[in-house]
This record gives sequence, C-alpha cells and structure tokens, in this order.
Amino acid sequence: MLPDESKAIIQELKDPLFKENEIRLFIKREDLIHPEISGNKWRKLKYNLKEARAQNLSTLLTFGGAFSNHIAAVAAAGKLFDFKTIGIIRGEERAAKNPTLTKAGENGMELYFISREVYRMKSNSDFISQLTKKYGSFYLLPEGGGNDLAIKGSREIVAQIDQPFDVICCPVGTGGTITGIIASVDKSINVYGFPALKGNFLKKDIEILLSPIPGHKLPEWRLFNDYHFGGYAKITNELEGFMEDFKRINSILLDPVYTGKMMFGIYDLIKKDHFPKGTKIIAIHTGGLQGIEGFDYMKKPRQELKNPNVV
Ligand SMILES: *Cc1c(COP(=O)(O)O)cnc(C)c1O
Repeated sequence: MLPDESKAIIQELKDPLFKENEIRLFIKREDLIHPEISGNKWRKLKYNLKEARAQNLSTLLTFGGAFSNHIAAVAAAGKLFDFKTIGIIRGEERAAKNPTLTKAGENGMELYFISREVYRMKSNSDFISQLTKKYGSFYLLPEGGGNDLAIKGSREIVAQIDQPFDVICCPVGTGGTITGIIASVDKSINVYGFPALKGNFLKKDIEILLSPIPGHKLPEWRLFNDYHFGGYAKITNELEGFMEDFKRINSILLDPVYTGKMMFGIYDLIKKDHFPKGTKIIAIHTGGLQGIEGFDYMKKPRQELKNPNVV
C-alpha cells in the first residue's frame, strides 16, 4: 500500500471543555497516511526518496534510537520503494528483539549497533567514510530525517489545510516538522510546539532552521516546555489516563511519546483559559503509532534481559 496524503483528513474533536470555553479543536490525521511510514515521517522522507533516486543511489542509510519512528518509517519505505536500507542504531544489539527493530529487520533493514559514545560522533566525516567503506555509497538521511527536503515535505501539511484556523499545534522532536509549519502558515496564525524532550536547546535549533527566512515574514511561534512528562520515553498515570479517555471519546489513538503529550498540553491550556473565546485550533496528529508496541515492551519486565548471556 502506498502512502496516501489524501487520507490525512481534518476532524473536529468533542469535549464539554470546548463548549465551556468556546473553543473549537480539530485534529489533522497525518497518522492515517500509512500504517508504517506514518505522519510526519512520510512528509520528511518523501522528497528525500525522490532525491536518492535522482542521484541513482539504491541504498538509504540513517540513524536512530531503538524505538525510533524514523527507523521504522525508513525500513518500510525502503521495502515499498525498493531501496536497500541500513539503520545505525544507538544502543546494544539485544534491542534488535524489540517490536520496532524486529519489524525493521523484517522490512529488510540491515541494523548496525553502536555505543552512545560513537553515536555522538555519527555526523563526523571520518565515521561517515568508515560507513562508506563498509556499505558502499548511500543516500544519507540525518537522524530524525531532518534536512531541507524534509522541511519542504513538512510544509505540505499546511498546504493541505482547507479551512481557516487561528492556532496550529504540533509535537516536537528535532524540530524539522514544526519548522516546515512555521515557514508555511499565514503570519496571522499562532504556531505552538510541544517538545517531547526535556531541555531548552530546541528553540535555538528551530531558529537556526528558520534563519533563511526573513523574520518579519514569520508568524508568532512558541514552545511549551511543560508537557514532556519527564522526558522522551517517559509516561505518567495521568498521561496514560488522558490518552485512554481521548481514545474512548474520539475513537482516535494517540502515541505516548509525541501526540499524547501534545494533546494533553492543548487540553491543559484550554482548561487554564489560555485561548481567547472563539479560537479555532488545529492539532497535527503526526502519527507514530508503531511506537506504542515498543513502549509496552519497554515497560514489561523481561526475563531475557536478566540473563547476561542474551545479547
Ligand atoms: C518524529 C516524530 C515527531 C517529531 O518530529 P520532528 O520533526 O523531529 O520535530 C513528532 N511526532 C511523531 C509521531 C514523530 O514520530
């Protein structure tokens, strides 16, 4: 099945909270584009796949953590569009048994595990030339898939919104997707980002990505750093409960790493009367549902991890 952007419809969410505050909240279902190359990962890959073809490169090489949606998406895209794929994974080889990497392997991705120390130097040219010696020539997708072509693809999320709105919300990992959104909305729109990670480095990163665009052309944008729930792969009972209620009421699944945290943040801001009455908000469901299984796997106590002979 090919990724289908026309499936990323906009739906209105229902909650008594919105009526009280005279807010309308919509969700753009980027998660429906494809089950494995989901949401923003498809947007970020799309023009990179074209470029790899144009350069006559038949191998994609990229980097990621052991539960990475990007790794999952690249592996699935490689299978679908006939590229060989290599995933350089941060961590130990025993992670190959987790659901994300098992599926990536089934999709034909060759996995290469490196330590956190080596991973930190992954962009340096010596390391890249070692990889070229090992694998031959390849098209290099940066970690998280972020580059100019990824931002070009992310801009299309906005281009496909066919109704007026005041605020657009998006979860943030590396900042590539929100950069595309900031770069394409009307100046009158507010762009709100919800980082899944702790730390204030993201604002700078996004400013750098935006620097080719003259400041006076940009809309207002801001990051809400209070909804990461302790960090990247962290979850609390409160967040879990929120996601369960959301699923029951709207029949829409959120992922615990990104979209669950964003949506929790939006509801919290509405509760705190952050938005003026009459505000129309669009939240981007960036996908990432493949990660749910990995998340559950991580939380389960596993016998084999206690056995030092298992790698
Ligand atoms: C990767 C990912 C993000 C973060 O995107 P960035 O462009 O890295 O900021 C957000 N949501 C989901 C579901 C993702 O998989």
